[in-house]
Amino acid sequence: MMKHLGWILDLYHKPGYMVVWLKKPDGRCVRLIDRWKPKLHVGGNYRELVDLACKSYIEQCHFVDKFERAGDIEKTRVLEIEVETDDEAAKLANRIQREGKYSRFRLYDVDIPSPQVYLYQKDLFPLALVEADEKDDEVQWNLRDSRETIDYKLPTLREIRLEVKTRKTRKIRTFEDELGSLQIKHDDGEAFTIDSGSEGEKILGLVDCFREADPDIVITEGGDSFIFPYLARRAHENGMLDRLILGRDPSPLRVYEVQGHSYFSYGKILYRETAARLLGRLHIDGHNAFISADCGLEGLFEISRTCIIPIQRASRATIGTNMTSLQLYHAFKKEVLIPWNKNQPEELKDSEELVNADRGGFIYGPATGIHDQVGELDFTSLYPTLMRDKNLSGETVNCKCCLTPRSRVPELDYNICGRQIGIVPQSLDILLRRRRSYKKQKREIKDEQLRDKFDQRQSALKWILVCSFGYLGFKNARFGKIDAHIATCAFSRVFLDRAVALAQAHGFKLVHGIVDSMWLSRPEATAADYEALCELLQRDLRIPLSFEGQYKWIVFLDSKTDPQAQVLNRYYGIFQNRTLRVRGIDLRRHDTPEIVRKCQRDMLAILSTADDSQEFKTLVPQALDTLREYASKLQSNSVPLEELVITRSLSKNPGEYSHKVLQAIAAQLLKNEGGSVHAGQQVSYVMTIDSSNRTMTTAAPPELVDDNTVINLQGYVGLLISSAANLLLPLGYDKKSLTASLA
Ligand SMILES: [Zn+2]
Repeated sequence: MMKHLGWILDLYHKPGYMVVWLKKPDGRCVRLIDRWKPKLHVGGNYRELVDLACKSYIEQCHFVDKFERAGDIEKTRVLEIEVETDDEAAKLANRIQREGKYSRFRLYDVDIPSPQVYLYQKDLFPLALVEADEKDDEVQWNLRDSRETIDYKLPTLREIRLEVKTRKTRKIRTFEDELGSLQIKHDDGEAFTIDSGSEGEKILGLVDCFREADPDIVITEGGDSFIFPYLARRAHENGMLDRLILGRDPSPLRVYEVQGHSYFSYGKILYRETAARLLGRLHIDGHNAFISADCGLEGLFEISRTCIIPIQRASRATIGTNMTSLQLYHAFKKEVLIPWNKNQPEELKDSEELVNADRGGFIYGPATGIHDQVGELDFTSLYPTLMRDKNLSGETVNCKCCLTPRSRVPELDYNICGRQIGIVPQSLDILLRRRRSYKKQKREIKDEQLRDKFDQRQSALKWILVCSFGYLGFKNARFGKIDAHIATCAFSRVFLDRAVALAQAHGFKLVHGIVDSMWLSRPEATAADYEALCELLQRDLRIPLSFEGQYKWIVFLDSKTDPQAQVLNRYYGIFQNRTLRVRGIDLRRHDTPEIVRKCQRDMLAILSTADDSQEFKTLVPQALDTLREYASKLQSNSVPLEELVITRSLSKNPGEYSHKVLQAIAAQLLKNEGGSVHAGQQVSYVMTIDSSNRTMTTAAPPELVDDNTVINLQGYVGLLISSAANLLLPLGYDKKSLTASLA
């Protein structure tokens, strides 16, 4: 028997067994094998299940008792079938459905990736410190760690960055280009370039380099969509695909081409690349990452541990998928079966915008315009806290088991289960507790590095919490239900009303209230007065809230005037210490070209020097001078190309657009050059004018811009004007008057 101590770095399933890579304290890695098979479950009429069990295509099966649905009072007898792989589970499930005429059987536990199920079952989690006893391809796990602790130790991980240059034959790089050079950058700054020899020699050079450097983390920009599929293609061309071993597992890279898929989500298409996996190492692709971009590796590891989702999947998954994993864990522990979500993405557009849009009902006195001396209270944790404390979950709101319930939802005739705690509240509990601990620690500790670490972790958790409410009402969420969503709204209304009443009783005036923030004012009020109000509300409502600060002045914008604005929360203002806060304006949008961003930033820098609304108004002409400077810079053609680039996502494949929007035109041009562009992908372009027909506006990808391209300068001036109007409309400046002022 072999004993190993280490952290769980990576795990994946092979037919019949799970492979787990442990990172040991001495820096080495060990590969463990544990015999294990996925299981799926089938519900239905008992006789028919018995018949099914006798079918020749069903091998390992027996009957077990499980809860078919989260709210069920009693367990049901279901058929448990063991399979070799996840793929086999899906194939078998399809067959059973077909043979059952799509009505006789209910299928469960078909589409949950087996590494997750394995972790749930063994009470393990990614990056957990464990002691493993390995014997005859079986592992006994002893956990030396806890998901509850916040000051966990992590191993030192070796990190490299990989970049690839191709010998372009066209203007953009394609899979047909010959390999130019490979660059490997170590985390200590040392770089290594492979650029000599034949293409085959370069590829083998990379394989050697990976083996010698033995990185734990490989970071790329575009590894999923280009670098690894490209390397596999080149290796294949050179007849050496079987030697392209970049993972720790002695198996070659298995991606041949881009296999990403587009899918619908909230009426929008998202495009996710298929992950290029380097078995035994973690490949993190900056172009295909949701979490690491914002919260760093610390945030990613925190999510991975807390939500029990393998690190590579966590980095690529949306917040919905990460949160779902945590819910699946609780369902698994309660012996609740997970219905097969066939072809239903559990992804949602997990941005602040969606969540805010869902709360459209909470608008108090939308006072657009400029206001002096306003304090902001933040109720971010209100919704998840209510969901946890009031036990609001798909299966607990309007449950079938409590005929005379002890609690009801205010204003609605909904009952809330008193018999069991729901899966959603159970899942939120650890997130809320951990975030609270990190925030508390952040205030108390002096060590700056540790504080940054805790901050990254708490902001990763915040993202999940912020989305938890919108997700409760999302139709494909596994444990959500619209009733639970409505119930949460009803409770929050009571709390917000009470908060407003209490504030008013203490002499504060509600200036503006939207989503989960509230802006109040009281003549001569100091920060201490706001802090005191916060304390009072916190005690009375038993809900965590925070005082964000007091503004010297703040401008609230009307979201209706900007058809592109997806957020209800649009404002900008400066705090007493002169830090600027902006929400929902061009500057913050991803598709805004740099020139517009810069112009808006410079205008705001001028306005930021104002101490109050009077000074603000006197500074507006100066801000307009800035606008004029940018416009003339554009007209004199002295703005670099990269500042003109606009990035938008494609809602359809390039050929499917009937009305040619600019991003579709640019995508088609990329395709003509041999690039691969799909619905859901981001496309960059600059606005141009058709060279044959001078009145036609069109677009071109920046890679294809050349001396003959005519940039649509007037179009960019138009963008500058509307971004200025976005800032100044409440003060009486609209697009028309701004255009006139430029003439
Ligand atoms: Zn009940």
